[in-house]
Amino acid sequence: TYTLGPKITDWDEQRRHWLSQNPQFPSFVRGKPRILLVTGSPPSPCDNAIGDHYLLKAIKNKIDYCRIHGIEIIYNMAHLDKELAGYWAKLPLIRRLMLSHPEVEWIWWMDSDALFTDMVFEIPLQKYETYNFVLHGYPDLLFDKHSWIALNTGSFLFRNCQWSLDLLDAWAPMGPKGPIRDEAGKVLTAYLDGRPAFEADDQSALIYLLITKKDEWFDKVFVENQYYLHGYWVGLVDKYEEMLEKHHPGLGDERWPFVTHFVGCKPCGSYGDYPLQRCLKSMERAFNFADNQVLQIYGFKHRGLLTPKIKRIRNETATPSNDLRLIVLCDMLLRQC
Ligand code: UDP
Ligand code: MN
Repeated sequence: TYTLGPKITDWDEQRRHWLSQNPQFPSFVRGKPRILLVTGSPPSPCDNAIGDHYLLKAIKNKIDYCRIHGIEIIYNMAHLDKELAGYWAKLPLIRRLMLSHPEVEWIWWMDSDALFTDMVFEIPLQKYETYNFVLHGYPDLLFDKHSWIALNTGSFLFRNCQWSLDLLDAWAPMGPKGPIRDEAGKVLTAYLDGRPAFEADDQSALIYLLITKKDEWFDKVFVENQYYLHGYWVGLVDKYEEMLEKHHPGLGDERWPFVTHFVGCKPCGSYGDYPLQRCLKSMERAFNFADNQVLQIYGFKHRGLLTPKIKRIRNETATPSNDLRLIVLCDMLLRQC
């Protein structure tokens, strides 16, 4: 059967040894676990040129968030394993990165079609001290309803440890393209509530694994819904004006969503579940909503949520050192909130 690579059984010891031999690459920096944000897109251009433009905006958005919060970032465009092309590509990639970056404590996968919409909020990692895998979802939808949207695999965190390598191994077997993926899709559709008939996808396969092998895996999985580690764009993007009126960044929940994820939109592919124009307009709004939080540091904002044009929000002075002080201050505020 299919495997992600040679079986590794002693990663925790190997990693501990490496960390002790390489003190210049500590897994904790200034008391915080080192995080690597991983995202990517297909190796070839999008079917539609506008799709590439939105991929660019999406990576700009992630670079901004990561710079503000001291998170490292990787953008992958290669298929490390051609059997696991498409949405399964994240599995061999995450495994590879864990092994090549023992200094990284948490690997954070984020889909290309997910945008940070709260530039201030930080993941409460202390909460996950005894967990190895964190993703957004609802335990009742998972175990009572067997719903195929009980968990979302568009934004999740893996601790760099043996347990995570084992979970990836247990997760991967439905992934190989062709008859295996097609047949597995039938099993998943029969088992999961609400799932349309299509080939096996990584999200359904994970949900299936966690339900059917709950005792084996679930005690190290944290299903988060106190804030939007993933937030479904429908129902969020039309409320940005209301949020601006009533709330402020740093909340991360429905009042000011941490992540807005464009599930079902496929601006880079040929077809999605929603009309392309509605997706693009909504992505533009989410991008500008987030970008305003960045531009504000430099004294600018977008003229509206649907335009790339910007305007000044502070007068420029003849004492730029004061402006710079303001930037540092804003930056510190952002870090602190
Ligand atoms: N992806 C990738 N390489 C590919 C195809 C997909 O890196 O060849 C990533 C990309 O970040 C994308 C994610 O996998 O957002 C999930 O795939 P997809 O967009 O097809 O599913 P959706 O996000 O709609 O659930
Ligand atoms: Mn996605």
